Amino acid sequence: MKYSTFGKSGYKVSSLGFGAMNLPSVPLEQAREALNYALDHGINYIDTAAAYRNSEEIIGECISHRRQDYFLATKTGARDYATAKAEIERSLVRMKTDHVDLLQIHYVNNVTEYKKAMEVGGAYEAALEAQREGKVRFIGISGHRPDLLVKWIAKGQFSQILFHLNLAQPFALDELIPKAAEMDLMRVAMKPLSGGFIQPVDRAIRYPYSQDVHVTISGMVSVKEVQENLEAQRKEVGPEERRELEQLALELGEHDCRRCNYCSCPLEIPIPDVMIASKFREKFGLLPKGDGFFKRHQEKITSCADHDPCKVVPLCEAKCPYQLPMSSVVQKAASFY
Ligand code: SF4
Ligand code: SF4
Repeated sequence: MKYSTFGKSGYKVSSLGFGAMNLPSVPLEQAREALNYALDHGINYIDTAAAYRNSEEIIGECISHRRQDYFLATKTGARDYATAKAEIERSLVRMKTDHVDLLQIHYVNNVTEYKKAMEVGGAYEAALEAQREGKVRFIGISGHRPDLLVKWIAKGQFSQILFHLNLAQPFALDELIPKAAEMDLMRVAMKPLSGGFIQPVDRAIRYPYSQDVHVTISGMVSVKEVQENLEAQRKEVGPEERRELEQLALELGEHDCRRCNYCSCPLEIPIPDVMIASKFREKFGLLPKGDGFFKRHQEKITSCADHDPCKVVPLCEAKCPYQLPMSSVVQKAASFY
């Protein structure tokens, strides 16, 4: 693991960040062990969000007694001032702290949402107010549309940016990371395993680790997972391995799905997961996570071809900003059963 100066914050941040999103799914004692093990072994960035069930409370319960040991990042999904203000206050109470180091405007994926958050009376105003009051040190933004994020950060209102970067979604490399680096923003990559579809873990973690980002957040729920993630960042990525990883990302990223979730499906087919899992299936065969996923969604996936409203123009494709061929990917996935 390496440490770098985290944008303009001056903080020496660890290259591996603890993603606390899934902690509510495990027993509290397990969460406590995992969090403390991570801090004891050099991880000093903790990522959560108001929306992650009781993740913030778990952090408050398990590690607030050693608050000086970590840079604490949370998020508000609210878009208006009053809800965001209430959410920030609640986050502080839940995490038993008087300030968070970073507050991100969470999951901003289209222009309407962005405008709502940034206008007078929007969430950004609540974030600025909390910053003036010393409750928030830095303000960032997270989203799944690198092409929009790059325009938004250029306006100079954010100190940090949180984006997807993994072997199946290398899109932030095109413009977003170079622009953020030029502006000396804190650059944080998320979803290195893309929800667990990308394996093996060490290659998945080493890909964003090899790029120009300060922190890669990996979702962890046990000491064993922390150990696996730490091991994956134990040594530097050399030029040859970097080339190999970039070649793999080129192949796996061909589907171009950004996970922006514009493409809601009336049958509730999880289209972005199908897009990504299918690519992995083609390349590596059916890994355990993919196998379970395809079994769970079999009925929905196999119904796609017969869904009458989609026969002339697939409803999902009409909504995709990247004009991706989702119906044919879903139907190809159906042919595997
Ligand atoms: S398929 Fe298109 S609309 Fe759906 S999540 Fe991916 S990029 Fe977004
Ligand atoms: S084409 Fe298939 S995946 Fe797309 S919206 Fe219709 S049923 Fe859903």
